[in-house]
Amino acid sequence: MERVYNFAAGPAAMPEEVLRRAAEEMLCYQDSGMSVMEMSHRSAAYQRIFDHTVSLLRELMDIPSDYEVLLLQGGATGQFAAVPMNLLQTGADYVDSGHFAHAAMEEAKKYGPVRCASSSREEGYAGVPGKIQAQPGADYLYITTNNTIYGTCFPTLPETRPVPLVADMSSNILSAPCNVRRFGVIFAGAQKNIGPAGLTVVIVRRDLLGRARAETPAVFNWTVMAEKGSMLNTPPTYAIYMAGLCLEWLRAQGGVDAIYRRNRQKAALLYDYLDHSRLFYGTAKKESRSLMNVTFRTGEEALDAAFVREAAENGLCSLKGHRLTGGMRASIYNAMPVAGVEKLVSFMADFEKRQG
Ligand SMILES: *Cc1c(COP(=O)(O)O)cnc(C)c1O
Repeated sequence: MERVYNFAAGPAAMPEEVLRRAAEEMLCYQDSGMSVMEMSHRSAAYQRIFDHTVSLLRELMDIPSDYEVLLLQGGATGQFAAVPMNLLQTGADYVDSGHFAHAAMEEAKKYGPVRCASSSREEGYAGVPGKIQAQPGADYLYITTNNTIYGTCFPTLPETRPVPLVADMSSNILSAPCNVRRFGVIFAGAQKNIGPAGLTVVIVRRDLLGRARAETPAVFNWTVMAEKGSMLNTPPTYAIYMAGLCLEWLRAQGGVDAIYRRNRQKAALLYDYLDHSRLFYGTAKKESRSLMNVTFRTGEEALDAAFVREAAENGLCSLKGHRLTGGMRASIYNAMPVAGVEKLVSFMADFEKRQG
């Protein structure tokens, strides 16, 4: 069986070179005599893998030294709870730009006063909300930089200083240059643009540590995890190793600036086609279009289903939109090659022609 182009939203396609390297090293990692999966997380050999992954992330994102990098478990959804547990004292502002943003806001309400600073829920999340202002004295303002399900992202970041900006970057971390200094906290589930599922990255400015409420579970307490080098307990060892291979791959591609150029090229191929198509149309507002998740439809459910099915028969897989939105979604994260998007666009044009 030949490998397909996988447009899944997450877990998502990984660079083929990474999978080959992992396969080569599967039974015996370097001179360790064992698989990475079998190593003690307390061993020197494993610590080197862990440190290498963190240092690649620091290098690629240019993370300043006053930020901690934590490699945790529990997914982005775990951080929906961890953010308020670690930061919420008097009140926090949430920007409701999509399903995950809304879920994070609802989760935070369990822990303290939460205000919705701006929402695009009424318009079905077709765009990102504007006019974002942090309440003076708020503990933080929370945004979701890329809305995976709706295919939208913030073209510019809201200015919230001195209120710390907290961002769920699960679906666009490492896709474009990002000034970490603008953020108090960045977190991301790994399974979209970093590596396999099971790993959650948290980047937190050190002055925001030490605020966790007493009942915060230790595994979700950033301060405890920072003190323990993310190893209070067993970290997701293999996922961290795989993330390291993906980050090495990204560096070899030329880093974030180079991948950003490629990501823009891929997204432009799709959006240009959608803007000229007489069958398909993009569903996200133009000014908030995502580079990572391109949502589109024909306007007819049966035709959407036929498209998704025929595309899969042609090696273009997982194009079905999220169950909340229907339609189609092409997730084109860093690992998706330009050739995959070219093949998708040419298949769409062919499908359109066949509709007469
Ligand atoms: C996928 C996703 C999540 C959920 O991630 P889990 O790791 O499954 O908890 C949250 N936020 C965004 C923006 C996502 O894309």
